[in-house]
Amino acid sequence: MNTVARGPEFMVTRADGVWLWDTSGDRYLDGTASLWYCNVGHGRTEIADAVHRQISTLDAYTVYGDFSNGPAVELSERLAAHAPVADPRVILTSGGGESIETAAKLARRYWAVMGQPERTHLISRTGGYHGLHGFGTSISGMDRFRNGYGRLVEDTSVVPHDSAAALEAEILRVGPERVAAYFAEPVIGSGGVYPPRDDYFTEVARICHKYGVLFIVDSVICGFARMGNWFGIERFGVSPDMVVFAKGVSSGYLPLGGIVVSGRVADPFYNGEGNAFMHGTTYAGHPTACAAAMANLDILEREDLFTVSLEVERHLDVALQGLASHPLVAEVRSGVGVMGGVELTEEALTGRGITTAEVFAEARARGVIVRPIPTSLLVSPPLVITWEQIDHLVSTLSAALDAVAARH
Ligand code: PMP
Repeated sequence: MNTVARGPEFMVTRADGVWLWDTSGDRYLDGTASLWYCNVGHGRTEIADAVHRQISTLDAYTVYGDFSNGPAVELSERLAAHAPVADPRVILTSGGGESIETAAKLARRYWAVMGQPERTHLISRTGGYHGLHGFGTSISGMDRFRNGYGRLVEDTSVVPHDSAAALEAEILRVGPERVAAYFAEPVIGSGGVYPPRDDYFTEVARICHKYGVLFIVDSVICGFARMGNWFGIERFGVSPDMVVFAKGVSSGYLPLGGIVVSGRVADPFYNGEGNAFMHGTTYAGHPTACAAAMANLDILEREDLFTVSLEVERHLDVALQGLASHPLVAEVRSGVGVMGGVELTEEALTGRGITTAEVFAEARARGVIVRPIPTSLLVSPPLVITWEQIDHLVSTLSAALDAVAARH
């Protein structure tokens, strides 16, 4: 905040495909798909048309109680049909963080209804990001998002993201009879782009099953073709108890998120008095947001962005790995999903005082948007990016690194 307050705002006025324009009319390559969400690219008039049609017919109406609407039902059915979850049910929300709150409360409530109210503990991973609401803040794998808010939600802990053995040890330390759920992103996104080891998810799925811990996947970044499939986690051949989604479900044209829940977890709330899950939000099942999502999914399917994205992933991987030999770069993490993390060396960061914010600003001045986190620059372009545009993205980032290196 201290940095951004010093200069004028960067006003984005218009966007089309992978391009953005600012108030001066300068053009920028959107190397981050906004905040990881614009999977189909900007300026899709068919989404605008679908929104216009829906908002002119039924703008919005609550789905409280037995109220419902066509777009909410159709979207839920479509998501359920593709979800890697047994006997899937869908809860709709307005975003990722809201969905995480719902999933965390649902997990705890499930155990209470099942007669095991002591199962409240939530385990998440270092580097994991699950939004910044109450539970999301409390299970964050990054201390900078947790500190300074007093006591957070109790009964949570964080384990190293790359070790299934660490998850099992933590379940045993807490006591399996006290653990409600385990949360993981298929590929850690905001924490720096960390793909899992090959057998990581088969192992953690086995461990969760062994101790009866609910396995909750946060696919907010990884879903809707960014990993070549619907929810990201299919890549690892496991079936979670819940999958949380947002972002790419509507490519961000309107805010939308949700949770796919297995029937086994959902059913108990419908049986018996006093077992209800007393949770919901005003804009759940918003018909116009759902219409935007349906039009977005139509594009993903019609243009087969599920297959295209695997080729984009390969090309982006090869291009980004070319930066691994840059003197400022310690490591390039890429190759699983259309995303990458370029980690700067300790020597560049602490030795020479180079900041990722400086590299970001230099790249933007050269017409390419990347995302700075404390030690890395992240990229996650729209899935419609061409090879030429990928090369432009990576060569501009490389030139920005050179320019910053020359100043220090
Ligand atoms: N989970 C993950 C994996 C995310 O990347 C994000 C957002 N970056 C969220 C949850 C939170 O979503 P929102 O910002 O829509 O609340």
